[in-house]
Amino acid sequence: MSKSIIVLGAGSIGVATATHLLQRGWDVTMVDRELPASETSYGNAGVINGASFVPLNNPGLHASLAKYLRNNTPYLRYNWPYILKNIPWALQFLQSSKTRASRITCDALHQLTTPALDEHKAMMQRAGNMHRLSEKGWLKVYRKGAGYDEQSFEAQLYAERGIDIQKLDAAGIHDLEPSLRPIFSAGYLVSGAACINNPSMLIREYAEQFVKDGGKLLRENIKSLSFSGNQTHCHLENGKQLSSDQLVVAAGPWSGDILATAGFTVPMRFERGYHAHYHFAQGETLSRSVHDIESGFIMSPMEQGLRITTGVELNHRDAPRNYSQLEQVMPSVHEAIGITERTDDPLWCGARPTFPDSRPVIGPAPGQPGLWMAFGHHHIGVMTGPITGKALAEQISSESLSMDMKPFSPARYIQRKRGAGKSVAKSVAKSSA
Ligand SMILES: Cc1cc2nc3c(=O)[nH]c(=O)nc-3n(C[C@H](O)[C@H](O)[C@H](O)COP(=O)(O)OP(=O)(O)OC[C@H]3O[C@@H](n4cnc5c(N)ncnc54)[C@H](O)[C@@H]3O)c2cc1C
Repeated sequence: MSKSIIVLGAGSIGVATATHLLQRGWDVTMVDRELPASETSYGNAGVINGASFVPLNNPGLHASLAKYLRNNTPYLRYNWPYILKNIPWALQFLQSSKTRASRITCDALHQLTTPALDEHKAMMQRAGNMHRLSEKGWLKVYRKGAGYDEQSFEAQLYAERGIDIQKLDAAGIHDLEPSLRPIFSAGYLVSGAACINNPSMLIREYAEQFVKDGGKLLRENIKSLSFSGNQTHCHLENGKQLSSDQLVVAAGPWSGDILATAGFTVPMRFERGYHAHYHFAQGETLSRSVHDIESGFIMSPMEQGLRITTGVELNHRDAPRNYSQLEQVMPSVHEAIGITERTDDPLWCGARPTFPDSRPVIGPAPGQPGLWMAFGHHHIGVMTGPITGKALAEQISSESLSMDMKPFSPARYIQRKRGAGKSVAKSVAKSSA
């Protein structure tokens, strides 16, 4: 009989992990309290980019600190009480932006981003949803700036790793995206990048394929975890219990709350972001995602219309929403492209889950055999879902590993209170972070 495993969370990371485990012969049950990809994996910009291995906390962050201290930019805002409550996290986040530390993270993330597109294509071929992918690159544009800065940290890493960048002038931008107004003087195309026209549906279709292939998908709210003998237990809101030989926690921004019920402390915090959907004006369209770098927003053509996504708001996952970054960028969006009114979809807010070194945790839980972790993918969790799922499934199945997993070890941050979690089940408490 095959060994049983529960995957907690059906976002980008959970669905891909469940799929890869099923392909390796595991008896897999995936559990989510919502439909698959209803949370963070719903509202993102849908970009798959092998070059997205440079995190926000790179050496360029130091150069911009004075600007960010004003706390009024579209790129980065923060809630002061949240930062003051999380000073150790904030200091470690800054510390990780120093050149040496940042390079270590970039090397690690490069392992995830490079195969991201091919791993998605393999899942798309199986799920029959290749039509959601557009392989036309990712366009970055400047209004005043000189364009691609060859001296930047990012550009140096791109050159070292052979990332294909096509520099563009105003005419080149117009040729690629004729609907963009002629306000952009320079830009560049990351040629190998791709975009998805509906990330939530893409992942939901992966989940449907997982079920067709024999996986189980349950819609339940997990309140707590416990462990006894060789079994892991999920305690459900309805009072029932699910047990299995192994358990993967892939609950994105909620992973810390769930793990706290078994005595784990998870120093993960949140880079929130927002989106709004607009109708294109008559005859206007975009062929790919466009990043207006100086104005601090991304425009992504989606099935729902034009999705505008914002930069980062460092704040608690559950804090009241603050739409000021979205409001701040909207005049610039109207300058950039013809749109009419907002669609009927509500404004959206999601919380990118982030560790201080901007590397996710992918691997075994410290001190608890049978428990595995896969979360903390900040800005790159949709693109790196399939490769994360593959890398974790290899570990769980004791296969030879296709990448160096040490940089993603959960043990680098996650601790367990002594004596906690033997068979005690506390309910998910509101995170104090
Ligand atoms: C504005 C914005 C733009 C972004 N753009 C991109 C992009 O272009 N490309 C990219 O790759 N990434 C992007 N990201 C990041 C990406 O969206 C995330 O990294 C990714 O979605 C995280 O996936 P996840 O599976 O870890 O979490 P989630 O998608 O949040 O999944 C976690 C799941 O766990 C479930 N869950 C939680 N608690 C429980 C419980 N107690 N019981 C049962 N189920 C539970 C939730 O319902 C949820 O479905 C963006 C993010 C934002 C906010």
